[in-house]
Amino acid sequence: MSKNIALILAAGIGSRMNNDTPKQFMLIDGKPLLFYSLSTFNNHDQIDEIYVVTNIENLSTVRGIIRDNNLKKVRDIIIGGKTRQESVYNGLKGIPNVSLEDIILIHDSARPLVTKEIIDRNIDACLTYNAVNTVIPVTDSLIESEGNESVDRNKVLAVQTPQTFRYDLILKAHEEALKENITNAGDDASLVSRLNVNIKQVQGNKLNFKVTTMEDLIILKAILER
Ligand code: C5P
Repeated sequence: MSKNIALILAAGIGSRMNNDTPKQFMLIDGKPLLFYSLSTFNNHDQIDEIYVVTNIENLSTVRGIIRDNNLKKVRDIIIGGKTRQESVYNGLKGIPNVSLEDIILIHDSARPLVTKEIIDRNIDACLTYNAVNTVIPVTDSLIESEGNESVDRNKVLAVQTPQTFRYDLILKAHEEALKENITNAGDDASLVSRLNVNIKQVQGNKLNFKVTTMEDLIILKAILER
């Protein structure tokens, strides 16, 4: 039986937030942002193990969050890298006793409102398709930043996390990317798609947005108050 392993990314410095505390540690309703997604994965009955990726400076903060909230499925904390891509790669290599067929759910801790249903869809689809991307339709009209040419929004989707893969596939995607000097991918499905592998799309949720700016924090607090 393959295991379902969550890799939660929390090694970013949140440079777009203009704040000394990285966004994943900012307190929202008395809990650090990282707590919200971690507890959803921890409480999911199909998740077997969790690894958190963070930087060395925040190691004790993350340890404290795990201990104070009794997040029992977190097995270890892995040190991330300078880019998101490097953090994921370090995470993948840092999971002990992993099997090639294990299912790895990679999630941005900056998306605190991930749901049980999104995790369900990722695991179910990965069992059959081996590679899964969480997406939502784009509702705004889009134009190119140069030239003002409009982009057909029916031809594009917004990408969220988790993105979920068999371990052997996602490791290979990262190793191939590095061979080709690709070091700053914004997500993991884009690396897997370079292997010409079919990626199953599953429905995300508008509330599973990435907290990036101060405005996003205002929206998040308003949602949590309801
Ligand atoms: O910067 P961005 O918003 O794209 O980050 C997405 C996620 O990746 C965040 O949860 C962030 O903590 C994580 N990240 C990371 N290591 C980095 C950069 C980002 O784990 N070097």
